[in-house]
Amino acid sequence: MSDTRERRGPSTLAVHGGEPAVRSDRSLTTPVVHATAYPFEDTRELVDYMEGSRERPAEYGRYGNPTVERAEAKLAALEGGEAAVLMASGMAAITTTLLAMLRQGQHVVLTRDAYRKTRVFARSVLERYGVGVDIVEPSAQAVIDAMRDETRIVLTEAPTNPYLRVLDLAAVVKAASARRVKTIIDATFATPINMQPLAHGVDLVIHSATKYLGGHNDLLAGVVVGRAPLVAAIREFLGMTGAVLDPHNAYLLLRGLKTLALRVRHQNATARRLADVLAEDPAVARVWYPLRPDHPDHENATRYLSGGGGVVSFELHGGLAAGTRLVDALRIPKLAPSLGGVESLVEQPALMSFFELSPDQRAAIGIGEGLVRLSVGVEDPEDLEADLRHALAALREG
Ligand SMILES: *Cc1c(COP(=O)(O)O)cnc(C)c1O
Repeated sequence: MSDTRERRGPSTLAVHGGEPAVRSDRSLTTPVVHATAYPFEDTRELVDYMEGSRERPAEYGRYGNPTVERAEAKLAALEGGEAAVLMASGMAAITTTLLAMLRQGQHVVLTRDAYRKTRVFARSVLERYGVGVDIVEPSAQAVIDAMRDETRIVLTEAPTNPYLRVLDLAAVVKAASARRVKTIIDATFATPINMQPLAHGVDLVIHSATKYLGGHNDLLAGVVVGRAPLVAAIREFLGMTGAVLDPHNAYLLLRGLKTLALRVRHQNATARRLADVLAEDPAVARVWYPLRPDHPDHENATRYLSGGGGVVSFELHGGLAAGTRLVDALRIPKLAPSLGGVESLVEQPALMSFFELSPDQRAAIGIGEGLVRLSVGVEDPEDLEADLRHALAALREG
């Protein structure tokens, strides 16, 4: 498609990428095609299609859908990738990709600071099927040191969850490609607006499109972007496992994507502003925001990120109880998991993703009791700042 060759800006790609300039039905927007099957004209067309000499839509809904394909093409354009495959959720994208690419006896390296269910999947499912799993510190050196002869995949996030760590991608890619290891980045927190992992030589980019890409807290989706042959192999596997995206959600995703750059740039600016407010407050022990100079990976962040994203993590001196007081005093952000959408959301990881663990177990995996994760939406920054200052003041009075 021409829009991936002449590299346009992210908002132009978000609005026009992957969709035909003039549709055959002349409608400005992509229609939602609700169909399970795509009939053949006659047996001649069927045989030509099966032999590969005729281009036409896939014959059955599990193998493709025109609305989903437009959303895939738009995401490929935004990431500067050859191809993309959408799935029913971010976890569907992660698990399908790993199962498609790994076999018994192989080995995968993950980072400790990562989406919890990704690590749980690796430990509870991949290991059960005879794949070796190492989960290491989120640093390039730790990842490189963990690679061995059987290693097939390195999977890390950028920035990681919840500490927003940013690895030296070039170092990981260099070491991995020397060993013919595939690199996969879950770039959900970065979005294609803030980071372009494929341009740094990463093999596959995965997103939970549930977050920024959909952006309106109303759909679940996941996507894998990369070179066409690798994406085709994953799509083939998806044809068996079947966690395909529904066309209605594909339409919501297409619609949400059109404002991606506007939303993310606004969220970048607001999150940075709130991170600076938090860093000044005596109740706050520590703030993690990738583009602040006090972040441990600030150097990598400035190298790889053009914006710090909409998530700010911070640790309160007063531990779990202080976090609860702050969360309950906030009036605009809602108490909920997830992130990246238009509504601001806030949570204490100790009470959300890691609830069933003891404080000692949480400490062992680096989840502080006073940790709060704030995902900034697109509300007015002045209002969010006033709300945060009010909640911090309530904490002092508490
Ligand atoms: C939410 C999330 C996922 C899982 O995505 P779902 O769409 O909820 O399945 C994976 N990775 C990261 C970094 C996430 O934030």
